[in-house]
Amino acid sequence: MKTLATLEPLMNRLLEIRRIQSAASVLSWDQETYMPAGGGAARAEQIATLEGLAHEKLVSREVETLLTGWVDPATGQAPEGWDEPSRSLLRETWRDFSRAKKLPSAFVVRLSRECSLAQQAWVTAREESRFSKFLPSLKTIIGLKREEAQYLGYRDSPYDALLDTYEPGATIAHLAPMFRELRERLVPLLKKVQGSGVTIDDSCVHQRFDQAKQMEFGRLVLVAMGYDFERGRLDLSAHPFTTSFHPTDVRVTTRVFETDLPSCLFSCIHEGGHGLYDQGLDPRYYGSPLGESLSLGFHESQSRLWENCVGRSRAFWRCFYPILQHTFPEQLATVPLDRFYAAINRVAPSCIRVEADELTYNLHIMLRVDIEQALIENRIQPDDLPELWNDTMQSYLGIVPQRDADGVLQDVHWSMGAFGYFPTYTLGNLYSVQFFEQADLELPQLEEDIAAGRLIPLRRWLEQKIHRWGRMFTPDHLARRVTGNGVNPEPFLRYLETKYGELYQL
Ligand code: ZN
Repeated sequence: MKTLATLEPLMNRLLEIRRIQSAASVLSWDQETYMPAGGGAARAEQIATLEGLAHEKLVSREVETLLTGWVDPATGQAPEGWDEPSRSLLRETWRDFSRAKKLPSAFVVRLSRECSLAQQAWVTAREESRFSKFLPSLKTIIGLKREEAQYLGYRDSPYDALLDTYEPGATIAHLAPMFRELRERLVPLLKKVQGSGVTIDDSCVHQRFDQAKQMEFGRLVLVAMGYDFERGRLDLSAHPFTTSFHPTDVRVTTRVFETDLPSCLFSCIHEGGHGLYDQGLDPRYYGSPLGESLSLGFHESQSRLWENCVGRSRAFWRCFYPILQHTFPEQLATVPLDRFYAAINRVAPSCIRVEADELTYNLHIMLRVDIEQALIENRIQPDDLPELWNDTMQSYLGIVPQRDADGVLQDVHWSMGAFGYFPTYTLGNLYSVQFFEQADLELPQLEEDIAAGRLIPLRRWLEQKIHRWGRMFTPDHLARRVTGNGVNPEPFLRYLETKYGELYQL
């Protein structure tokens, strides 16, 4: 039986590539947190240079020779006679290599440059709320993404080639019926909530809250979750994110608004969930696919599990609400737990995805997935987007944005060329409930533990079941290993129906 020891020459190459990528990640983190605004143009070049170098090294003759000595290029698999970690490492490295190799380097450079320009155009268009200013760039990007899909190859839809970048193995043919099922139950549930006659007053979480104290409370929750500050940091950025340079250096960011308590709080918990995943990867495998997170859907499942299944649960606040009240006595001392719990779970359709509640969030995603799939398949024209966007908002959420800035221009994804990214948000939501339900089955004390502020058993469970495996298994395989099922909307729908049924007395 051949083991990872045989693969050392390849792993050394991969390690070198990963170190270059990690250096680029440090530069990106700095760009989003501390870099002075004037540094932007030079920084973009610095990052592009490192990324170009990493790409070059990955598609090099040397890596190709090593890989083809071990992998059957026709199947992308290693032949019999290797142990499981080695087979996984070879399968996943081959996947990365062959995808990178299919894209001509001139194309990679062109795409990268056009995306930088498109992002700048998008920022201006959004500021002025004028879609026409973004339209020419958007057309260019869509053309390039269609071209990319042709290079990568696909069976049914060119959209699958792009989706596969973020969620290996996912296809729109598999996702579309599942998303339809979700929509067919979410839209009526939303109507029932709106017709329930129950109104939730969330003014208690929109008083004035000292920003430093909000940050302090966010840190306290992160520590309770087991986020290790010896191997991490919490900083401020315009859009919260998590980045990892190594399992020993995983950073999260948040944002803080004086009159919006949930914003800082839940972005800390959300990014903390991402951070725990990255801190839980096996450092021995740093550099190889076995030391990398599995997919964006899996990553998002970790953040949403902590943010929603834990952070928006009654059990969690049984322990943490008295601490929060103690932190903000003036604002919260007379607000009972029930009122606070309702306030952080209030359902209110809004135009902005990142502000959406648990119930309406996925409707925002479906709208985007419908549109981007149709764009890539050339079934609709970019010129018609604002109208299409508003019509779909009306039918899914019953509201229409007043301005394009709050509608079709709100997300950065398309300007970055990230077509196929959106479905992973919904996948993450579905997986989050599946994993949490499984944890609940396997950890009989889970609810009492959470209610007592003991969050470490859950973190350990996630680490053992998901984090430490890296890309050892495919997403579908790991989901089945953990829960016995592939991705499934049923647990998520049941969870929402129960939670909001109770809250809105349906
Ligand atoms: Zn996230």
